[in-house]
Amino acid sequence: MNVQKIHPAVDAGFKSANAQFSGGMLRCHCAQHQVEVKLESQTMFNHACGCTKCWKPEGALFSLVAVIPKEKVSVTANAGKLKVVDENTLIKRHACSECGVHMYGRIENEQHAFYGLDFVHTELSESEGWSAPGFAAFVSSIIESGAPVSKMAAVRERLTELNLTPYDCLSPELMDMLAAHSAKQAGTWQE
Ligand SMILES: [Zn+2]
Ligand SMILES: [Zn+2]
Repeated sequence: MNVQKIHPAVDAGFKSANAQFSGGMLRCHCAQHQVEVKLESQTMFNHACGCTKCWKPEGALFSLVAVIPKEKVSVTANAGKLKVVDENTLIKRHACSECGVHMYGRIENEQHAFYGLDFVHTELSESEGWSAPGFAAFVSSIIESGAPVSKMAAVRERLTELNLTPYDCLSPELMDMLAAHSAKQAGTWQE
């Protein structure tokens, strides 16, 4: 296992975000009849994810995944090729049934803290200027995909070098958002 292969979009430095950036097209990996998804805003909370559910390009240890308001996401070509990978997960990941690339993930549960946000992989866009990844989530989970425990210190070191602070859940900011949402539902929320 090569600990340098975090993800092709970050291994040689991420092409930096652009403050004026307002979106672009995502395309699947099919040679023809590509599924096209139009994103009409910049993304937020882009990060590397080590979980076993997010789509990763060939050879990468992590996926890169960001969120965007769902009303800014529309399928503009070959929608018929999309299929939900697993109906039993919180995030319904809509993938191209031919090439397997995940085009967008959506939360249907209106009670969830992240309801209204879709999960996307902006590496599927040719445009540059997308929000840069800011941290690495679910780092320990790469072990479930076959990474040896003995390599984990080196993986975390490499992530830190890339300014992707490693966490074994989401980042503190996102974990706080989830907990605050739970507190509001439980009636224990305080300003
Ligand atoms: Zn495809
Ligand atoms: Zn993930």
